[in-house]
Order: sequence, then structure tokens, then C-alpha cells
Amino acid sequence: MALKSTDDKGIQTLAIHAGESPDPTTGASTPGLVMSSSFVVDEEISFSANNLSAETPFVYTRWDNPTTQRLEQKLAVLEQAEAAIAFASGMAASAAVLLAHLSQGDHLVISNTNYPGTAEFARNTLGRLGIEVTPVDTSASANIESAMRENTRMLWLETPSNPLLRISDIAAAATIAHANDALLVVDSTFATPIATRPIRLGADLVVHSLTKYIGGHGDAMGGSVCGSRALIGPLRGEALVHYGGVISPFNAWLIMRGMATLPLRMRCHEHNAIAVANHLERHDQVEMLLYPGLESHPQHRLASAQMDNFCGMICFRTAAPRRVARRMMQQLEVIHYAVSLGHHRSLIYLMQTDDLIGSSYCLDGDELDRYRAVAGDGLFRLSVGLEDAADLIADLDRVLG
Ligand SMILES: *Cc1c(COP(=O)(O)O)cnc(C)c1O
Repeated sequence: MALKSTDDKGIQTLAIHAGESPDPTTGASTPGLVMSSSFVVDEEISFSANNLSAETPFVYTRWDNPTTQRLEQKLAVLEQAEAAIAFASGMAASAAVLLAHLSQGDHLVISNTNYPGTAEFARNTLGRLGIEVTPVDTSASANIESAMRENTRMLWLETPSNPLLRISDIAAAATIAHANDALLVVDSTFATPIATRPIRLGADLVVHSLTKYIGGHGDAMGGSVCGSRALIGPLRGEALVHYGGVISPFNAWLIMRGMATLPLRMRCHEHNAIAVANHLERHDQVEMLLYPGLESHPQHRLASAQMDNFCGMICFRTAAPRRVARRMMQQLEVIHYAVSLGHHRSLIYLMQTDDLIGSSYCLDGDELDRYRAVAGDGLFRLSVGLEDAADLIADLDRVLG
């Protein structure tokens, strides 16, 4: 019993069954957890990752592991990609893509507001290695077009992006990237494969922090990259084996269990987020709110066309945000004042503007003015969880006053 074909199955069936099959020796219906770091072999296996191939048996878990392989197969099916590879965290996955697919003298075009770790890695680490980086607001395709150069080898989008929930047009970006012989990479962590399938829209590689919606329960860190076999192969041979950011099989197993309910959870995240966003948008203490599912979002039309689910991320602004944040830390009952997102628990955190633009984004000129006009001194990033929407609204009303 295992899926004979995946093309004809629905997303709920695939989230549960893809990559899985009953254990041939025990008949166990649930996939086993293989914690072994090494494997007994019956032939000589080369010590070099250069000789790794699809036929190489399991040798050592930093190369490949049966539990992790199941997770990778499930991810590839959900993303409609040929292949997937898992890493220890979203940052390990992002760093692997950037280091393994860019070299000295290459040029990278990247969203100018995105996950701070990615922004800092691109600017500081890649810069030090002689890779040129141009951050632009990728939510306008014209900005991407004018940033492309002769030596641009990669375009990196994050959509929706952290923390402004800007949406970038993946299909338009793919056309621009490919006309320039550059790879299009999409960090689709906020969207998940339930909302958007970037590969189908022309992306070459899709990055996820599995720590967020895909794992979904706030108990395991992981990251992944999906794409063609030709692009994923080097990530295994070079990045996984030599940079060493391998996921624990236990985390792979937990994340795979979380994925079984991803379609159901995303439906509930969206349902709750619409209720909370509608309430907050009319709240007299809320000065501004961004949610791609509301008509008030500046790119609601693009979001509706590109996303099958608006996910559970909301950003909003209040007066005196630090005072409000302090009240949240002390008085919230259900929502946790904590970083991260995409968990079953609701999480809220103040993203302070000076912090972000000073250390992570380094915006200047018009871009800085535009960021400040939207974000003021800071934005609350709310990851709406799976609790009852009425309880979340009551919790927020209590601290907003
Ligand atoms: C969290 C996150 C990352 C980094 O993932 P980790 O698992 O925390 O390393 C990358 N991109 C986005 C959009 C994220 O939200």
C-alpha cells in the first residue's frame, strides 16, 4: 500500500500519504523513525561526496537518512517539484542555496525587506566573499528589471515578505530572471505549498523554513529546498555533506507528522486571520493593518491571483508600540509574546523599525521613507494560530484598550 500515482490525488491525500508506505517487515502503518547515524553496507562505498548518486545506499546520516528521505519526498510532491532536500533549519537551507549556487563575481538581486537572517547573510557574508548584492523592493517588477546586470546569477524573492507582507509576482519575476540566465529562488515560508506553488509559476528553487507552518507545532526546526534534480543534486553533494547542516531524523519525523494536517491547518489559520484582521482593522487603537486577504492590502489583487490561501500572518501598527508590547508581555492570556510564526499557538512580536532598518535592511533614501511611512516606529507581527478566533480577539482587545 503506497500511492501508485500522485498527479491524480488531492492535496489532503498527498499531505498524508506522499512519501509514506507501511513498513515492509513489521507492517507498521506509521512511518518508522530511523535514528541511526551510520548504516551497515555490503560493498565498498567511496568516502567522497563527489561520488554520491541516486543509487548510493544509505551510508551516513549527514548524506542521507531513510526518515529524512520520506520527508523530502513528501515536500517534493506538495511543491510539485522533481526533488527536495531537507536541512537543519530554514537558514541552513537558505545559506546552502546562496553559497552553492553563487560564486565570486556573481551578482544577486534580493528583496530589500525580508527575513532578517537572510538579509544579513546576503549583505555581510556574501559581500565578504565577493558576491555583489542589490536589495530592491521586488513587489514592483520594474525594480527587479532595472536591478538586473550582466553578471546577475540569482534573483531571490520572499513572498509574502517579512514583515510588511509585500507580495511579489513570481511569474513576472521568472520571466525577468530567465531572460538574464539567472535562477529564480522563492522563499515561500509564509505562503506554504497550500497557498502557492512557485515551481509551477516558473521558480527554479523554493526555500522553506519547516520550523514555521510546515512543521506547524513549534517543536522542531528544519528547512528545505525544492527544485529540479539538476539543481538539488549539488546541494546534497556540496552543501549538506560539506557545510553539514543536516536535520535530525527525529525533527524530520516530527515535521512529517505535522505536514499531514497542513491543508487543514492552513484553512483554519486563514479563517481565524480573516476574523481577527476584520476586527483589528476597525479597532480605534489600530492605525494601520496589513493582511493580504483584505481589500485594504495594497496588493490584494495579486495576492488573490497568486495565493490559494492568505495564511495567518497579520501586521498592524498602534501608537506607542513599545508600551503596548509591554502590556502584551504582561497581560496576554492566550497569545504568546514570542518570535517565530506558523505554529498552532498564536504568537505576536513587535518588529521595531530602528532595529530592522539599522541592523538588517540598511534601507536609505526613498525606500527608508516608504518603510517608515508604513511601519512607523514598529509593527506588530501576529501569527494567528488555531485557537478559537473569539478568544484571540478578546485577548487582543484586553491589551489594546
Ligand atoms: C523563519 C524564517 C526563515 C529562517 O528559518 P529558521 O528555520 O528559523 O532557520 C527564513 N525565511 C523566512 C521567511 C522565515 O520566516
